[in-house]
Amino acid sequence: MKARIAIDGPAGAGKSTVARAVAKKLGLAYLDTGAMYRAITLAALNADVELSDGRALAALTAKVELDIQINSDGENVIFLNGKNVSKEIREPQINRNVSYVARCPEVREIMVSKQQEIGRRGGVVMDGRDIGTNVMPDADFKFFLTASLTERARRRLAELQEKGISLTLPEMMAEITMRDKIDSERECSPLQAAKDAIHLDTTEMTIEQVVKFIVDIVVGS
Ligand code: C5P
Repeated sequence: MKARIAIDGPAGAGKSTVARAVAKKLGLAYLDTGAMYRAITLAALNADVELSDGRALAALTAKVELDIQINSDGENVIFLNGKNVSKEIREPQINRNVSYVARCPEVREIMVSKQQEIGRRGGVVMDGRDIGTNVMPDADFKFFLTASLTERARRRLAELQEKGISLTLPEMMAEITMRDKIDSERECSPLQAAKDAIHLDTTEMTIEQVVKFIVDIVVGS
């Protein structure tokens, strides 16, 4: 079976960009699991579901149709009930609310079973918060990417600016601090490095260097 690679870490550590590039270089599929939680958050906000109501969130998650396709650039394209929501799920109100949805055990159960189904096919790079610990605990390679808070906030700001959304650096730092806190402190599969994960602080590294680091380990093993 082709390699299964787990890439976890806090918000803004560069996981998605790196995971996508690693997948492209190694000819593997790429799954952005954060996008799945983002899509459910969008559905919940659109349906005015109270985000602390686990039952309502679970019912909504079971009902929505979530489809993930890979485009020619290797990016994940996310369809919610048949509509392409790939852009909408990156908006600030989703950033602010996604961790409240993702801490709901019933939502996670449904998302994780979809992710595990994809994982079982092999030949995949998955990025998220609980991939190495919970979704693919038997992954062939596990990486945990971090970077300083300031650097992570800068990276996220640059991404958002490209999309015409402007926030200040302190606002972005506050947002990702809050998200990491909720993600790390939740009871159900929190943001955590797997015991056997390779840790990499990417603060001073370019995307290309991080990709090379990972590819070299996978190819060289
Ligand atoms: O990776 P991204 O920042 O897009 O993830 C958005 C949110 O989705 C995270 O802050 C976290 O709350 C949730 N998430 C999760 N488990 C994953 C991936 C993402 O709880 N495997």
